[in-house]
Amino acid sequence: MKKGEVLYKGKAKSLYRTGDPGVLLVEFRDDITAFDGQKKDVLSSKGRLNAQVSAFLFRLLERKGIATHFIDMPDESHMLVKALDMIPLEVIVRNIAAGSLVRQYPFREGTVLEPPVIVIDYKDDSRHDPMLNDDLIIALGILTPDDLAMIKEMALRVNSVLREFFASLGITLVDFKIEFGRTPDGKILLGDEISMDSMRLWDMSTGKSLDKDVYRFSKGDVMEAYNRVAERVCAEDKEVCK
Ligand code: 5GP
Repeated sequence: MKKGEVLYKGKAKSLYRTGDPGVLLVEFRDDITAFDGQKKDVLSSKGRLNAQVSAFLFRLLERKGIATHFIDMPDESHMLVKALDMIPLEVIVRNIAAGSLVRQYPFREGTVLEPPVIVIDYKDDSRHDPMLNDDLIIALGILTPDDLAMIKEMALRVNSVLREFFASLGITLVDFKIEFGRTPDGKILLGDEISMDSMRLWDMSTGKSLDKDVYRFSKGDVMEAYNRVAERVCAEDKEVCK
């Protein structure tokens, strides 16, 4: 598949056209950023590890009946995906209180949230991704009430699959962020990525972070943390990590 012109360059990924208008190529770069891009670095191999984990998780979700944009992985740091019109929402599912939930509300870090809590932010760095509610999402015309209910239901199904999978690797899935988009015929698919940049993962035996919090809060060697996750995921599927 040919790498055509760049369509979009985000903070950590670039999107390229291919010969097929319905298919795009996602490049996972080695850039890492935090706090709306105020902190940034380049870390060798980071793109490859996030691409491999993302591809593995999209395949796992597809096998469990969740429709995603994932098509294939042409090499270790690229994914071929279905072209989507992205919905400007960050859908966050939280199993355990951490991060902004603890900073903004009177939750104690580590409190189990049962049932899991869904938080939806408006994806706009210039507005610092403000939190929305159902009425605002509908008033803004971003989703219909039916599509909103479907996206929430999909997010909870994604959570069940990922939580069980990470538990089998000795990792607690604290929370994660996903994004959705529409195909030209209006079908809503899970898009973007699911990686150590977009999940909060805690090692069950040590309690240590194995995700971007290591970078955000200078908790140690972020690549060592990302490698730990990728190694455990790759042990499940050698094909995706060749
Ligand atoms: P928090 O709201 O606690 O900062 O983030 C909740 C979860 O969503 C974390 O797993 C975090 O990594 C993810 N998340 C929230 N906003 C973003 C974002 O803009 N980009 C990425 N990659 N992940 C995000």
